[in-house]
Amino acid sequence: MKQLQARNRLEELKKLMARYSHEYYVLDNPSVSDAVYDGLMRELKQIEQQYPELISEDSPTQRVGGEPLTAFKKVRHSTRMLSLNDVFSREDIEAWIKRTQRLLPGHEAEYFVDLKMDGLGCAIVYENGHYQQALTRGDGTTGEDVTANVRTIKSVPLKLHEKPAFKSFLRGRTEIRGEIIMYKADFEKLNVSQTKAGKPMYANPRNLAAGTIRQLDPKLVAARPLRFRAFDIIRNDFSEIPTNKVAYAAIASLGIAVNNQARTFKKVDDIMRFIDTWEQKREELPFYTDGLVIKINNRDLYRSLGVVGKNPRGAVAYKYPAEEATTAVKDVVISIGRTGAATPVAVFNPVILAGTTVQHASLHNADEIARKDIRVGDTVVVFKAGDIIPQVERVIDELRPKSARKFNMEGELKRQYPELEFVRPKGEAVYRVKGATGPLLLKRGLEHFASKGALDIGSLGEKNVAALVDAKLVHDVADIYVLTKEQVVKLDRFAEVSAQKLINGIAASKKPSLPRFIYGLGIRHVGSQTAIDLAERFGSVEKLGKSSLDGLMDVEGVGDVVAESILAWFADEDNIQLLHKLERLGIKPIYESRARGPLHGIKIAITGSLETMGRDLAAEKIRSLGGTFQSSVGKDTAYLVVGENVGDSKLKKARDYGTKQITEAELIKLIDKK
Ligand code: NAD
Repeated sequence: MKQLQARNRLEELKKLMARYSHEYYVLDNPSVSDAVYDGLMRELKQIEQQYPELISEDSPTQRVGGEPLTAFKKVRHSTRMLSLNDVFSREDIEAWIKRTQRLLPGHEAEYFVDLKMDGLGCAIVYENGHYQQALTRGDGTTGEDVTANVRTIKSVPLKLHEKPAFKSFLRGRTEIRGEIIMYKADFEKLNVSQTKAGKPMYANPRNLAAGTIRQLDPKLVAARPLRFRAFDIIRNDFSEIPTNKVAYAAIASLGIAVNNQARTFKKVDDIMRFIDTWEQKREELPFYTDGLVIKINNRDLYRSLGVVGKNPRGAVAYKYPAEEATTAVKDVVISIGRTGAATPVAVFNPVILAGTTVQHASLHNADEIARKDIRVGDTVVVFKAGDIIPQVERVIDELRPKSARKFNMEGELKRQYPELEFVRPKGEAVYRVKGATGPLLLKRGLEHFASKGALDIGSLGEKNVAALVDAKLVHDVADIYVLTKEQVVKLDRFAEVSAQKLINGIAASKKPSLPRFIYGLGIRHVGSQTAIDLAERFGSVEKLGKSSLDGLMDVEGVGDVVAESILAWFADEDNIQLLHKLERLGIKPIYESRARGPLHGIKIAITGSLETMGRDLAAEKIRSLGGTFQSSVGKDTAYLVVGENVGDSKLKKARDYGTKQITEAELIKLIDKK
C-alpha cells in the first residue's frame, strides 16, 4: 500500500473504530462483534507497522478503552491500567517470547498463564485493610469513581482477611485490580425475565456488567448479580510481591477470588497444551473467556520490559479463534464445476478464521453478489460456524474505497473464459457452460487426465473413457483407481486381455511426476509448461492450492487470467474432495526439482516440423535440460527453431523481436553439446 493510500485507509478505520469503541465502552451497546473490531484493529496495526510516522495519539492502538463518563467523578489511577496485545497462534507467542528474551538476555523467563475474563477492568483500593475506593479502567489513566456501586458486589470484601503470611498487606495502601464479570447462568436468568416482561434482551454479559456498574443508583447495581475476580495486586514496596504466583496467593489469602486455574510454565509446549485444554473446557467455566493472559511471572523483569503504546511488553492476550473476521475482497474469480455451473468465488487477503487461514469463499451466484452488494475492494465480514465452509456475511459499507468495482458476471465470464459460451437457464440463478452436461465434462476431464502429456494412461483413450462413464462405473476422475477387471470385462468393448491391459495401465500411473499431475487436473489455462513452472515454484499440489494471487502471478508466464483460474479451481470444494480422494487411493505425484539444467532460463520455440524428432520429444528434451519450450514466439524467446513447412506468423514475430533463428541441426548441437 502506498503511503497516501495508507493514510486514507487509516483515517477511515480510525473513524469507524472510534464509533465502535464509543458504543462498546461508553454506551455498553456494541453494534458489531469483538471479532469484527479485532479484525479492523489488526489491519490498522499492520498499516501503522508499515508507516510508523502515521501513528497518532487518537489511534485505538494508543488509547485504552473509552473516555470516562462525566456522571461519575474522574479519578487518576495510581499507575496506568493497560490493555494487552493480542496473539493468535503458537508462532505469535514464540515471536513475543523471542522479543522479550532479546530485551532480557541471560534471563530464563517463567510464564504465568491465567484465563482471560470477559468483563470490565476495575481497581479497588484498600487503606489499612479497609475498602476505600473503586475505579473503572476508563481510558487507562483516569477512571470513573464507582466506589458506591462496587461496594454492593458481594465478592468484594469491605475488609481484607488477615492471614499470617500476608499480614503486612493490611497496613497502608493495597490496590487490587481485577475484572467485574457476570456469570453466564445469571445473565441467562436475567434475559429470561427481560423476555417475560416484554423487554429487549441484553446483548452479552460483558456489556451488561459494564452498563450495570455505571448505573447512578447503587440499589439497581445491588439487584444485579455482579462478581469480582482479581488478577493483580499493587503495593508501594515491590519486593513484597516478587512474582505473579505470589500475587495470586496474596490476593486469595486477603479474601478476594482469583482464578485457581492459573499456572506457571517454562516451555511453549506446555503453554500451548494449557491453551488447548481450556479451549476444550471453557464452556464449563461459569463465565465467558475469550482467551488467556500470558505474563512474565517475575514482576521485576515484567516491569523492566516497560510499555509500548497502551500495552505492556511483558504480557500478551492469547485470543481463541473467532468464527468471524474481517478481510478485503481482492478479486472475484469464477470456478466451473463438474456440471458446468459457473460459481463466482471471492478471493481475500488471507485471514485466520476459526483457526484456519481462509483466502476464498464462494459467493454462490450473481444474484447473491448483487443482494449483498459485494464489490472488489470491499472490506467484508466473513464467518465460519463450526466446520462449515467460510461465507461472506456482509460488507462494511463505511470502509468501501472509491475504487471498489462492481461485479459484472457476464463481463467476467467473457474475460476469464473467453473460449467458452455460457447460458443462464430460465428461472435459474446460475450460469452454465453452453451444451455441457455432467457426463460430457467428466469425459473430457478424464480424457485429459489420461492423455499423453498428463498421466499417460495409453489404454484410456476417448472410446474407453466414454464406455466407462456411460456404464456409470466412473463418476469422477479418481474412480478409475477403484475399477476392477471384473467390472470392465462386462462392458462390450472389452475382453479379458484388453480389460487387464486397462487395469494395468491405470495402476502404472499411480506415481506421476508433479508437473504431469498438475497438468492432468485440467485447470483451465494451465498447459504443460505452466504446470512445470508451477511445480518448480510450489513443489506440491498442496502448496499450489494455498498460494495467493500475488504468489501465483510471480510465476513466469502466469498472468491474472491464469492465476484467477488456478485460484478458482482450488476454491471449488468438489476439486478439493477429488484431490483428497486421489490421495486416499494412493496417487502420489512425485517431484524432483529440476536441477538448474544447462538450458536454464533459455526459451525456445519451434516452427514447422522437425525431421529427426517429433515436436513433443524436442519439447521434453529442452525441458529436461532446464529450458523452457514455448508454443509461440515472445519478446523473451531466445531461439526459434525453423523446421520444414513453416508458417509465416512465428517467423514474422521472430523478425519483429530480433529472435535468433536456428536450424534443426543447430538445435541438436545445442542439446547434445550440453
Ligand atoms: P484487552 O482484550 O486488551 O484485555 C485487557 C484487559 O483484560 C485488561 O485490562 C483486563 O481488564 C482484562 N483481563 C481479563 N482477565 C485478565 C487476567 N486474567 N489477567 C489480566 N487481565 C485480564 O481488553 P480491552 O483493552 O478492553 O480491549 C479490547 C477488547 O474490547 C477486545 O476484545 C475488543 O474486541 C473489544 N472491543 C469491542 C468493540 C465492539 O464494538 N465490539 C469495540 C471496542 C473494543
